[in-house]
Amino acid sequence: MIRIDQLKCAPSKDDKGLIKAVSRKLGIRKEDILELGIIRKSLDARKKPELFNVYSVWVRTVNDEKILKKLRKDASVSVFSPVLYKAPEGGNEKLTHRPVITGMGPAGLFCAYELALRGYKPLIIERGRSVEERKNDVKRFWETGVLDTISNVQFGEGGAGTFSDGKLATSVKDKDGRIHEVLKIFSDNGAPFDILYEQMPHLGTDILPGIVKSIREKIIENGGEVRFETKLTGIAMNEGRVVSVTVTDREGAPEEIPCEVLILATGHSARDTYKMLYDNGLKMEQKPFAAGFRVQHPQKMINLDRYGSYEAAELLGASPYKVTANFEDRGVFSFCMCPGGYVVNASSEEGELCVNGMSYSGRDSANANSAIVVSIPVSEYPSDHPLAGIEYQRNLEKRAYDLAQGRIPAQRYGEFKDTVIKTENSTVSSESSDDGCRGESFEPVFKGEYEWCDLTGIFNEKINRLFVDGMTSFAHTIRNFDAPEVIMAGVESRTSSPVRIPRDGNMESSISGIYPLGEGAGYAGGITSAAADGLRGAESVIRKYSPLK
Ligand SMILES: Cc1cc2nc3c(=O)[nH]c(=O)nc-3n(C[C@H](O)[C@H](O)[C@H](O)COP(=O)(O)OP(=O)(O)OC[C@H]3O[C@@H](n4cnc5c(N)ncnc54)[C@H](O)[C@@H]3O)c2cc1C
Repeated sequence: MIRIDQLKCAPSKDDKGLIKAVSRKLGIRKEDILELGIIRKSLDARKKPELFNVYSVWVRTVNDEKILKKLRKDASVSVFSPVLYKAPEGGNEKLTHRPVITGMGPAGLFCAYELALRGYKPLIIERGRSVEERKNDVKRFWETGVLDTISNVQFGEGGAGTFSDGKLATSVKDKDGRIHEVLKIFSDNGAPFDILYEQMPHLGTDILPGIVKSIREKIIENGGEVRFETKLTGIAMNEGRVVSVTVTDREGAPEEIPCEVLILATGHSARDTYKMLYDNGLKMEQKPFAAGFRVQHPQKMINLDRYGSYEAAELLGASPYKVTANFEDRGVFSFCMCPGGYVVNASSEEGELCVNGMSYSGRDSANANSAIVVSIPVSEYPSDHPLAGIEYQRNLEKRAYDLAQGRIPAQRYGEFKDTVIKTENSTVSSESSDDGCRGESFEPVFKGEYEWCDLTGIFNEKINRLFVDGMTSFAHTIRNFDAPEVIMAGVESRTSSPVRIPRDGNMESSISGIYPLGEGAGYAGGITSAAADGLRGAESVIRKYSPLK
């Protein structure tokens, strides 16, 4: 088969011009193309408002060899050699008990899926509720402000990214096809096929729960067992290896479950679980992370800047963006950008508040949002204790909660900036507009109640100043990015884990038999990389043990 890279076409909804472009490129008739598949599709907006889709494709023709010979000097045409994911053969050691998987976020879910399909009959415990029940719990929280600490935006089936933009792009290189395998599993369970080749694939909050449910059903069909509202509350060891776990059900009744494999996929918000594991001697270390505020701009402003016209968005959808800047020892950057999205109250603990972003598959709200975050080195943490980063996060979240008694604290950027750089020239307009920004006010979109506040007391002066410097710098990339009317909300503090649980080459922790996976272990950041880490964890178990009879 033949691979063609850098194939340019005018954007169209259904990749209409592609076959024509391929036949022209290869100098053959359309009828001589037997099969064609897209490997990658991205947008080239360097000559905006003239836009191009740029494709990498594979093609099977009536005579591949002849074409490859004819075009051998064309660097964009080559032999297609796909990277195929290959799961390992089962090992020889015998398991006496089912592997226990803790947490049903992407890491736990994909680990369980692979183990179930390969005959290891995993037992999966999840502290939160099923995704169907969780949808109502989260909606209720956003409507009433009453937090359910068992089932919320962070906890429950599907994990932290279930009520999200569902961005699936990752910076992890796909050397062994594992990332493609993750996307294929999503697609086999109800995600649209184009996630397999779009450069920036996304699902949306309306699609993710159905996929999560489908994966759960397949785990159960293949011999796995799922227990909701069941929390890991203890571990027991013998000679440095795990021998059982204690779990606590919805009535608070403890149960001891023997196991020789414990997958820890508990995410970065399970602070009580980190503590329990630390108290039991599991080795952990500090890890830097990033924190800041979520900002909202009118989506039309972003579309105009990125595409060069308002109309292009009708074909290409709401535009994403990415901005970064470096200031001496710190980075400031956009994180988890949600085109046409909502800023959500993403809290999971009483008396503490954090925000995040989500969107529906249509990405059709009026505003774009993203976290603008500053890198936080471990030297900012209150002590050298491995869990001090959690204390640091908690302090930020307590301050954010106290500002508006649990409602999302929000502020126009102009007012924030004036306080931070101690000027008195706030120029926030009260004129409402739906597409402009500088000199024209626009309305925020939140999931959860909000209140206008002064956000300058959440972080220290240095971080506030870095945030402002970042915003000023980003306005050189995106016009009006730092307009006074831009809406900020705090605090964005759950970007990644401030803790790492070290693991060896077989992915086991300092306690044998415990496999820390995903974001909470400090080895992933985002849905796809956490899911891929889940698959890697399953591979390690498969390589060592034979399936359960
Ligand atoms: C609102 C929001 C939007 C996001 N948007 C995106 C996005 O668009 N794209 C992207 O790539 N990433 C996004 N993320 C980040 C992404 O969700 C995480 O990177 C990812 O979910 C991490 O996966 P994980 O499996 O490691 O952990 P988690 O998803 O955090 O899952 C951990 C699970 O373990 C359970 N658990 C914890 N402790 C216990 C215990 N003791 N016993 C039993 N169960 C336990 C939790 O209830 C949870 O279900 C978003 C996150 C949020 C909150």
